[in-house]
Amino acid sequence: MNRSPEDVAQALQQAFFPTDPITLTFTPVVLKSSGKLIVIDTGLGEAAFKQSNGVGGQFHTNLAVAGYDAGSVDRVLITHFHADHIGGLVTADGKPAFPKSEIWVPAAEYAFWMNSGNMAPDASEAMVANFERARRIFGILGDSVKKFAPEMEVAPGVTSMATHGHTPGHSSFIVASGSDKVIIQGDVTTHPALFIRHPGWHGFTDVDPVMAEQSRRKLYDRIVAERLLVHGFHFPFPSLGHLTREDDGYRLMPIMWNPAP
Ligand SMILES: [Zn+2]
Repeated sequence: MNRSPEDVAQALQQAFFPTDPITLTFTPVVLKSSGKLIVIDTGLGEAAFKQSNGVGGQFHTNLAVAGYDAGSVDRVLITHFHADHIGGLVTADGKPAFPKSEIWVPAAEYAFWMNSGNMAPDASEAMVANFERARRIFGILGDSVKKFAPEMEVAPGVTSMATHGHTPGHSSFIVASGSDKVIIQGDVTTHPALFIRHPGWHGFTDVDPVMAEQSRRKLYDRIVAERLLVHGFHFPFPSLGHLTREDDGYRLMPIMWNPAP
């Protein structure tokens, strides 16, 4: 929002990405911890899978191919309420997609999107759709949805972090196992060639872009200082890497994907 289309095109070209259209992949996380099967974010969901002929909403089919039954998921954690993160919480016919799972969401995120009084009078069509979608999905899921605060253990070994800005309650997670840690950053950055490389650039999907930039710089300074591994929902597969400082921004160093752990 604060750069010219030419600057954006140049940043994409420098990273060897096409400039039109911009492709963003979606990578939810599945992890096992203390015998629990945990999912973090859910993609666009089955309805989008049908509407797009399988271009979007692939998570449920990929989950099954990977050998997991949605009915055996114990807990779903949500970073924020945009369609690509909560759409997969419900099936195409409007039922809970993880029927036996607890659903945990950021309390501030729930409070914002479930109250249409928070919608500006001149809200864009996309904003109005976000409010309507949140009410529809969480209407289906009902009162059993759990709301978490920052710095809470939301699953065994998984702690929430406030990274507000992209949305009012946007949250990230730290997953810890022994001395290893990975930050699940959600959408602190969407496209890495734009917002990791240029943390001061503002995305049009950020509800509060200034706060989003502050959250991004604070988190990335910590990731660099502690040499932490970071997962980005929209980073290229396998969506995991480290960050180094470069010029006035950062660079994503993807991990080597190893299919034989
Ligand atoms: Zn997203």
